[in-house]
Amino acid sequence: MLLFTEAVASYKEVPMEYSLVIHIAGCPNACENCQSPWLQAEEGDVLQECFEKLLHLYHTVTCVCFLGESRDEANQVEFVAMCRYARALGLKTCLYSGRAGEPEPWMRCFDFVKRGPYIAAQGPLTSPSTNQRFYKKENDSFVDVTSIFWQ
Ligand code: SF4
Repeated sequence: MLLFTEAVASYKEVPMEYSLVIHIAGCPNACENCQSPWLQAEEGDVLQECFEKLLHLYHTVTCVCFLGESRDEANQVEFVAMCRYARALGLKTCLYSGRAGEPEPWMRCFDFVKRGPYIAAQGPLTSPSTNQRFYKKENDSFVDVTSIFWQ
């Protein structure tokens, strides 16, 4: 069951989109120099119970961005269902995943996927030396468009 700690509207996470950014609790990554250590605890509100209300409250957004994953792989089913719901409303979707590697097959429900842990010495997505990668889905494949954040 996905839990979240807060939801805010932001232009920062997904270029060219105004996103409802939902902070997912229970991050499994334990990055050194974690910027949001409170997200490592399994504590928060049940997202499924609030998702529809959040979309109603933030009705001017163009995208829903889930900031973080959780330890439980069963939660992938919830992500897929929420992506479907958001898409039916004409919204794009994004996942910020702290794990390294290219987007996994189940992540094809998202229009954008960020991958990679935070490594302070390499900097965040906005740094050209970053280890993190930002992918955009084009023709059902994910394309690395990280350099958008450096312009
Ligand atoms: S992915 Fe983000 S929240 Fe999770 S440990 Fe790393 S910096 Fe912290």
